[in-house]
Amino acid sequence: MSATSLDTGSTPVVASPWHEVLAKAPKALLHDHLDGGLRPQSVIELANEFGYKKLPTTDVVDLKKWFHRGAKRNDLVLYLETFAHTVGVMQHRDAIERVAFECAQDLANDNVVYAEVRFAPELHTESGLTLDEVVRAVLAGFHRGSAGTDLTIYAILSAMRTAARSHEIAELAVKFRDEGVVGFDIAGAEAGYPPTRHLDAFQFIQRSNFHTTIHAGEAFGLPSIWEALQFCGAERLGHGVRIVDDITGEPGHEVLGRLAELCATDVFPLSSAPPRM
Ligand SMILES: [Zn+2]
Repeated sequence: MSATSLDTGSTPVVASPWHEVLAKAPKALLHDHLDGGLRPQSVIELANEFGYKKLPTTDVVDLKKWFHRGAKRNDLVLYLETFAHTVGVMQHRDAIERVAFECAQDLANDNVVYAEVRFAPELHTESGLTLDEVVRAVLAGFHRGSAGTDLTIYAILSAMRTAARSHEIAELAVKFRDEGVVGFDIAGAEAGYPPTRHLDAFQFIQRSNFHTTIHAGEAFGLPSIWEALQFCGAERLGHGVRIVDDITGEPGHEVLGRLAELCATDVFPLSSAPPRM
């Protein structure tokens, strides 16, 4: 995780030998959100450049703190509100390309050598960009930002689970599979929006011999994980932390339920994205 961006400046980091070891170690990053890791200074500059007027503050230190407050509210829906502003400044081709460029640069500086960074193209069309233009801008930024570094970076296209464009986004992901898109995902508020709501999109991905990861079991429970794996063909789960609801017993003597056992024995990787901001 590129912790580069929105550090508060208020939480002291205790230096230890492990920090140095981890900082230098080559890392693979499987769950990251392009719109979750903008540099605060860039948010402010892009807002100025492209006329975005809704930032809560234009002071870079205050903006860092504001994003952290938003990210620590322990409520997925409230947390997602902070993305209104990062997405708000990513509505033009050059803005998106810059954010993707800086993302790749930040990850390379953190010694990430392999990254799959996801974003939702449908959130970046308010100023008239087409979905294709959004994807091309991101891929161009990744290409430019990783050039000359040890980083290999790909994109995962997310559809918003609260919307109804998932099949279109799935087609988009497959369309760009040879240009840097490696998978399809659904993201956004989970409760009330089960994975099977987008079953046709997932089946399209499967028929295309392409790849699926699904945010499931983050803010909602086992049924979401079960649907993601058994109906929608998820090869990886985003978060999946509610799998603990299917584990009983004392520490050291845990008893796995059938779904937890499936996750463990079939090795479905769970990936979490602590906010870069
Ligand atoms: Zn995520």
